Amino acid sequence: MNPGGYAVTVAGPAGGAAVWVDAAYLLSAVLFIAGLKGLSHPRSAVRGNLLGALGMLLAIVVTLVDQQVMDWIWIVAGVAAGSVVGAVLALTIKMTAMPQLVGLFNGFGGAASILVAGAVLIQIFGVGLGGAETGELQITIATVASGLVGAVTFFGSLIAFGKLQGIVTEKPVRYPGEQIVKILLLAAALFVGVLIVLDPSQVSYYWILVAIASVLGIFLVIPIGGADMPIVIALLNSYSGIAAAATGFVLSNTILVIAGSLVGASGIILTQIMCRAMNRSLANVLFGGVGAVIEDASQGDVYAGKVTSTSAEEVAMILKSAQRVVLVPGYGMAVARAQTAVRQLTEALERDGIEVEFGIHPVAGRMPGHMNVLLAEENISYDKLREMDQINPTFANTDVAIVLGANDVVNPVAREASGSPIAGMPILDVDKARTVVIIKRSLSPGFAGIANPLFAADNTLMFFGDGKVAMDQLVAAYRDA
Ligand code: NDP
Repeated sequence: MNPGGYAVTVAGPAGGAAVWVDAAYLLSAVLFIAGLKGLSHPRSAVRGNLLGALGMLLAIVVTLVDQQVMDWIWIVAGVAAGSVVGAVLALTIKMTAMPQLVGLFNGFGGAASILVAGAVLIQIFGVGLGGAETGELQITIATVASGLVGAVTFFGSLIAFGKLQGIVTEKPVRYPGEQIVKILLLAAALFVGVLIVLDPSQVSYYWILVAIASVLGIFLVIPIGGADMPIVIALLNSYSGIAAAATGFVLSNTILVIAGSLVGASGIILTQIMCRAMNRSLANVLFGGVGAVIEDASQGDVYAGKVTSTSAEEVAMILKSAQRVVLVPGYGMAVARAQTAVRQLTEALERDGIEVEFGIHPVAGRMPGHMNVLLAEENISYDKLREMDQINPTFANTDVAIVLGANDVVNPVAREASGSPIAGMPILDVDKARTVVIIKRSLSPGFAGIANPLFAADNTLMFFGDGKVAMDQLVAAYRDA
């Protein structure tokens, strides 16, 4: 028994767990995988979330019973405190702040891995409580991996959170010899890791490893900026899974290995999807220092004398004679919280027999699925939400494309092979519609910081204003027209 009053067992690699425990863990794993499958479509996402949560509840209860953790008061108090904090955050967080919330959650996962692995190391090798009769090497190597990856994840995530929250500068912080500093830090962390494996009784080395890896985490994320941060958050999500899987090996806990691996794999897949949708390589995101909003000197030339402004009344008249309208939402719709007015306009148009669809770019907004979630909250049918490949061929038959707070994802400059931060990024071909109405407050650039020649195109009308105010005006003007 340990000083806390509960039995501590760290099984060897063979595990030795009872058959019913393995069966329950297998069921948990199936629930996790079914949950992930459910999350792949908005219609089944809520069910997927519940299945995943059920799998986690089962895994936790089985582990507590199997490991004979009898100190229920602390467990219940911890679960209650975590649930209250989680529920308050989930209910109050703005959709635009989701990336940093996810970032913070990843960080907590990394911190938990550091602490659990450290506790096992102290328990077995530090105070000599034993428990690792077999598999000592597995435990020490896995502990090193947990501490290293967990600390990179925790401090990297804190920096990512700080950047997105405006606490730390959003711009990439570059310095001479940056890559060498990072390589040296990694080498130092690995060196200390080897020392721990060779002599695990030197528990203080573990905290040195964690300290070095923490600095590495900060140095890895600080040179990244702007809207590249969501990609980094997806990557840190993957790291938190790897750290958890390593902790699973420390504890010889099968379900933690499985859950960690699923998080690690899904995080890296998401990172890849985001990079591909932005036509960027992961190396470019991590080491390129792109992502700061660049002042674009050429804006004057692009727009001079060519921009046509419009009003709610004029757009309403054009809509009255349309047969097909495509709405393209972007980051500005999320900021302005204009989605309710979007639904109202959709309903009004459909009442008049006008076909309405939505064109959703994979990286519209600031996180994957950002627009889908906002529109789903308004009960806009999923059947109307079209992915880029589906909607693009239809723009030629579209009377009006309304671009609401989107910019980079409709910028034709992306079609050029090089020369701009978005070169090669696939875009929504709104410029092929008969009339393009763009709702935004000014001619300011989007995240990529470059001018958008679409604003000066012959078939484009600029409706300047805050997304919600402009959409409310448009709904009213359409009803009166
Ligand atoms: P952009 O960031 O390109 O443009 C958003 C536009 O919204 C701005 O030009 C701004 O113009 C306008 N806007 C801001 N506030 C308001 C408001 N209150 N009312 C109306 N308009 C407003 O957005 P996109 O969605 O087109 O593109 C997303 C960008 O983010 C891409 O570059 C993508 O690569 C990047 N990104 C996306 C990720 C994702 O997963 N979704 C992840 C990482 C990066 P103005 O100030 O004139 O109003």
